[in-house]
Amino acid sequence: MDYKEIKSLKTVLTNALNIVIIPHKNPDGDAIGSCVALNEILKSLGKNSNIITPNDFPDFLKWMDKKNEIKIFEENINKNIKLVEDSDLIFTLDFNSLSRIGKMEQYVCNSNALKVMIDHHQEPDNYADFIYSDVSMSSTCEMVYHFLDKMSLLKNLNAKIASCIYTGIMTDTGSFRFPLTSEITHNIISKLIKHGADGNKIHDLVYNNNSIEKVLLLSHTLSNIVVKKKYNTAYMFLTQEDLNKFNFKKGDTEGIVNYGLSIKKIKFSVIFIENRIDNIIKISFRSKDNFDVNKFAKDNFNGGGHINAAGGVSYDNLNDTISNFLDKLKNYKDNLCD
Ligand code: 5GP
Ligand code: MN
Repeated sequence: MDYKEIKSLKTVLTNALNIVIIPHKNPDGDAIGSCVALNEILKSLGKNSNIITPNDFPDFLKWMDKKNEIKIFEENINKNIKLVEDSDLIFTLDFNSLSRIGKMEQYVCNSNALKVMIDHHQEPDNYADFIYSDVSMSSTCEMVYHFLDKMSLLKNLNAKIASCIYTGIMTDTGSFRFPLTSEITHNIISKLIKHGADGNKIHDLVYNNNSIEKVLLLSHTLSNIVVKKKYNTAYMFLTQEDLNKFNFKKGDTEGIVNYGLSIKKIKFSVIFIENRIDNIIKISFRSKDNFDVNKFAKDNFNGGGHINAAGGVSYDNLNDTISNFLDKLKNYKDNLCD
């Protein structure tokens, strides 16, 4: 956003009364953190602001919504459609295409509200009136911090908002390890701590809050990991039976795919998760260095994301999906073995 757009967005923000904030489907720490942070700021400005998430979010993020204010679209469709229809401003956070909000897409598309995108995924669509997209950013939460700065709203930061922004930066950077964690990211973290974010406590709430079933599901997945040495690739899979056996809850599989990358020389790690309710296989891709999983997901599995972290979906059964993946992998030998 250039100076003119920032000025014009400031006016839009001043005039807006009813605001809706939307994260992507299956929201993660960055999506929920950025939405709650922005929502708190907007409420502090006296706006009627609401977060509507396409579907539910994991228990380890619920502490950011102690008052149960986040609306879940699919749980009260008519009321939430009305909120979208009555809004004059819609923020879409942490996604680059309206196809990422499932059934909400048509209502957001048809709404007359002005739309603002804040996002760090590759190749954003052009649906918003204001697009703040930057693929060099560690997280949407980091962008929300910059956005508040641009809007001269950093003075409204408090401990809760700082904690939510901290959470999204922490989860999207793998606890400040991933390549897009910059000096500026750390600078922002330092300011968030100054405003009351307690890094140790947040880490505990997000990562040390597992059920025993979640840990056993991790153990089960890792015990079946397959390494394709020839391609510096590791993959894992979970059937619906596995998920049922370990009493799967939303968020229980998050982060498992990263373990593949901890194996020496592995550059590409993949997890296939069967979902027999939606009849799909959800796939997560992670990579190191210059192996572009955004492109891999987009070209082969109806997905996308970032260069080193992306997702996709397959409508074949689990066995066929894995066979198809192994087949496609052959085309990437050069990229994986340089
Ligand atoms: P995850 O594997 O954790 O679901 O997602 C990794 C990254 O890719 C996240 O930033 C997520 O938002 C993005 N992502 C996941 N699934 C999709 C998808 O189907 N399409 C696109 N464009 N991005 C996705
Ligand atoms: Mn993100």
